[in-house]
Order: sequence, then structure tokens, then C-alpha cells
Amino acid sequence: MFHTVANFDRIGEENAFSVLARATELARQGRDIINLGIGQPDFKTPEHIVEAAVKALRDGEHGYTPATGILPLREAVAADVAKRSGAPVSPEQVVIVPGGKVTMFAAILMFGEPGADILYPDPGFPIYRSMIEFTGARPVPIPIREANAFAFSAEETLALITPQTRLIILNSPANPTGGVTPKAEIDKLVAGLANWPDVAILSDEIYGQMVYDGLAHTSLLSYPEIRDRVILLDGWSKTYAMTGWRMGYSVWPQPLVDKIRKLAVNCWSCVNAPAQWAGLAALTGPQDAVHAMVAEFDARRHVVVAETNKLPNVSCAVPKGAFYAFPNITATGWKSKPLASALLEEVGVATIGGPDFGIHGEGYIRLSYANSTENILKALARIGAFLEKNA
Ligand code: PLP
Repeated sequence: MFHTVANFDRIGEENAFSVLARATELARQGRDIINLGIGQPDFKTPEHIVEAAVKALRDGEHGYTPATGILPLREAVAADVAKRSGAPVSPEQVVIVPGGKVTMFAAILMFGEPGADILYPDPGFPIYRSMIEFTGARPVPIPIREANAFAFSAEETLALITPQTRLIILNSPANPTGGVTPKAEIDKLVAGLANWPDVAILSDEIYGQMVYDGLAHTSLLSYPEIRDRVILLDGWSKTYAMTGWRMGYSVWPQPLVDKIRKLAVNCWSCVNAPAQWAGLAALTGPQDAVHAMVAEFDARRHVVVAETNKLPNVSCAVPKGAFYAFPNITATGWKSKPLASALLEEVGVATIGGPDFGIHGEGYIRLSYANSTENILKALARIGAFLEKNA
């Protein structure tokens, strides 16, 4: 019998994809399914971006590109990130990757090995922990608490750092909670990191343009004192409704760029060329579609929160960013995963149980409001009827 290496037995899952598969299967069987499970905008990619990809294909952009991406795109990313974060960013620091997940994968591979600790948010995007375990590093969860409005606590995060800590993963605005860490708290965290100059930071800012209530997004790159050890994860998937294009970008400290370039050469060569030209059109073209999408998410956010708070024994904090709500279902008497599963099987509403995002996710379910207001209202009415019947 053949032998695979043990690392592969430690790879986890992103359960949103299993829920999507089950929801699709039920819909195929003729069931009326409403998906509040998957985290992707329900909008189409704006037309001028699609046209740029079509034009690139017609113009013969069919070959390999440089491994880190075409220069005009890296220049556009550098300019865009510099404008939004205030940090000087050079195109040489920018790496175009096939989706934001690949930045995560590369950064965790670069710092993770047995004996190393990597801190990550819990609840948080499930791939962080999965990849940390894959490398053999020790995953150290940073508790993210409802009592703290689902923000990182600087104090709690700093207290977890030890001489074994190599990398800290931060994510604001956050999946799955919609939490946004206030600038004052990030200031404290950054001040404390001065005591740990060898610790790198992976800042997952993929929802950075989705903040509400007049809040401004604070990029970790905006802090000169840590800039030389921040890896920025961002991309097109959420901001421009381009999840299926597999396009992301990262900004790396200069000494790490050559390592990720070599990983690219060994692994994916380059990102799909026409998609890169589309990404350029996205960044340099009109941003009205982005503003319209964010405004729509904001309106739905109010609907989700208001309607979820009417559910029996459920309370829902107001998310400040991204497109997720993370209601507390503890008082219903249900555990999160059985509830999520019953809602899908019995009333055709896909949600994700909080424990799919970490141990601190028990007692919550994630609702993605990347769905029409009409569907959100219908889904919450079904959940309400289910909870009345199964109290
Ligand atoms: N980071 C977070 C927090 C996410 O929620 C997601 C997608 O759900 C990603 C990264 C990955 O995005 P991409 O589709 O660009 O790989």
C-alpha cells in the first residue's frame, strides 16, 4: 500500500463548501433552498471588468506572465494600497496570486514548522488553522468574543505571544463575525508588538472595503513601526464580486518577495493572464459598482439584524463589516452544528454552524447576507417558524 505524508491527514475543511454542495444537491432534488451559507457576493462582476478580460483574450493575452503578475497590475495594486493605507508600497512588493487563500497558504508555509507557534483568530476563517496544522506548527487560538464586539483584544492577543511565536494572523473586518477591530485597539496591539520584533503579521484585509456606520478601515500597513513585517492579504473576490476568477494580491516585506516568487514558479507559474487584465480594469476603472454593492450590503445588514433579533431566544449583535451576521443561539437550547444542519434539511435554509470557525464559535451560527433582501426575509421567517416549533 502506498504511504502519504502525515501532514495531509491534518488538513481541515472549509465547511461552507460542503454546505454549498449539500444545498445544491437538495435544490437539484427540487427543494426550495435559500443559501445564507456561502460567503460570496450575489452580484455579477461589473461589466467593464468582464469586458477587459474578453478584450485581453481577443488581444492574444494567452501566455504565461511573470510569476508575480504583470507589471501594470502590480503598479496599480501598489498605488491603490498606498492610497488606502498611506504606506509607501512598491510594485516589487506586490504578488498577484490565484485567490486570497493562496497568500494565506504561502505565509503559513513560510513560517510554520514543528516547534513554531502561529496565532490565529477563533472564531476565524477555518483555513488558518487547517494550514497551520498542515505545517506541523502549533495553532494558538486568539479568542474573539461577542462581549468585545467581536474585535481582537490587544491585551489578550499580546499575552499569547511567546518566544516560539513566528506569525500572528489578524483579520478585520472579520469572517465569520462581521467584527471590526477599532483603531485604538490596533494602536495598542502595534505598540505591544514592539516587544516582539521577530514576529511577523499576516493581515487578512479582504473585507477592508466593507465597513459600515461611518467607520474607516485601519490597515496594518499604515503603521510604519511594523510595516517591514506585515504581509497584507487582499484581493478582488469580495470587493469586485470576483470569487470564481481566483484573483488575489499580497504585499510582502521585501526580503520575503523572492521566496513567494519561487513558490509561484514551482506551483502555479502565474495567475490566468486575462483575469489579471480584468483585475487591472477593476482597480483603475470606476468604483461605482463597489460603492453600490457595499450600500446594498449595508441595507441588508439592518434587515438581518432586525429580523434575527425577532427570532425566539436569539440575539444578534450589529456587525460592523464584511457581509456576515453571527447571532447567538445559546438560549434556544440548540447546539450550533445540529441547528445549522436541521435548518438546511428541514426548512431549506443553509447557514454555517459557529464551530466550523473554531471552538469559540459554539453557540453561534453564521448568516451570510450576500443574498437578496427578499430571500433573507423568507429565510428568517422559516428559521423563526422552525425555532417556534422546536423550542
Ligand atoms: N480571507 C477571508 C477572511 C475570507 O473570508 C476569504 C473567503 O471567504 C478569503 C480570505 C479567501 O478569499 P479568496 O476567494 O480570494 O481566496
